Amino acid sequence: MVLGIESTAHTFAASVVSGEGAILSDVRDAYRAPEGAGIHPREASRHHAEVAPSVVRKALLDAGAGMEEMSAVAYSAGPGLGPCLRVGAVVARALSSYYSRPLVPVNHAVGHIELAALLTAASDPACVLVSGGHTAIVAAAGSRWRFFGETLDITIGQLFDQFGRHLGLASPCGPAVEAMASGATKYLPVPYTVKGNDMSFSGALTHAKRLLDRERKEDVAYSLQETAMAMLCETTERALAFTEKKELMVAGGVAANRRLAAMLGDVCGRQGARLMVPDGKFAGDCGPQIAWLGARLFSSGVSCSPEEGYVRQSWRLDEVEVPWRGC
Ligand code: AMP
Ligand code: MG
Repeated sequence: MVLGIESTAHTFAASVVSGEGAILSDVRDAYRAPEGAGIHPREASRHHAEVAPSVVRKALLDAGAGMEEMSAVAYSAGPGLGPCLRVGAVVARALSSYYSRPLVPVNHAVGHIELAALLTAASDPACVLVSGGHTAIVAAAGSRWRFFGETLDITIGQLFDQFGRHLGLASPCGPAVEAMASGATKYLPVPYTVKGNDMSFSGALTHAKRLLDRERKEDVAYSLQETAMAMLCETTERALAFTEKKELMVAGGVAANRRLAAMLGDVCGRQGARLMVPDGKFAGDCGPQIAWLGARLFSSGVSCSPEEGYVRQSWRLDEVEVPWRGC
């Protein structure tokens, strides 16, 4: 069993996962930003420090296990907000040191992808990773997840969150923007920016905010969602055609968006691929993504001492060796 600790952004979470991939516990506590505001890193890290002891204790209790039974302690080492990452790292280092358990630093983005692969039983997928921190299309080659398209500026999660916050909503705003879009009566043109196989969302955001001065918010939300999802689908389709992968996974919080699933379903239909979407409960930030990838890395020989348990605010997912993938 491996204990995993997640603390990259809004959520502090802990989970115990077995080496075979059984999720034995999953405990979360999320910091809520005030309405109209984004995550304040210092406030979020205070929240994490307050809830950490009870979240970790409950994760072990729910799993019916003690620290002595953990083979390793995995933690999200990045990418993420520095103050938030440091809380998870300090908790993991303390447990590792006190109980003499190896520490496994985990890349949060690879955690999203590997958990989605576990839950969907995908064997060799392309993956659309869409979250607050990422917008990327990746596929495994040569023991790493490689980029086949990504955002050049803000992520698609930030696009919906910043649009929603402009309307005075509380982050994360994706579900509210999706609900708002369902009340639309017309499509309004929004800048569509695909460069090579990369996307840019900041122009669409600026334009959508301006449209709100003269158009119904439902129509603007719908137009923004349609345009952003279409950009993602164009780049995903090109990546699928190029890599010839026959499975397409969606991972990250935006995977919960039903319109995205429908549009990607059309992409898969055209490319002869199977769409594999994990249970929405595990799409966003959670402990199992860290515990499961930690378990896989640990069985591949990855671990470090408490003194080496650093955090890396910027850590690209294609820097991580995943020996069980794409040889
Ligand atoms: P994560 O960073 O993986 O926890 O994902 C959080 C992001 O997913 C936030 O930016 C949310 O606004 C976004 N999100 C969650 N649900 C939806 C949805 N139904 N539609 C669009 N975005 C969503
Ligand atoms: Mg995430």
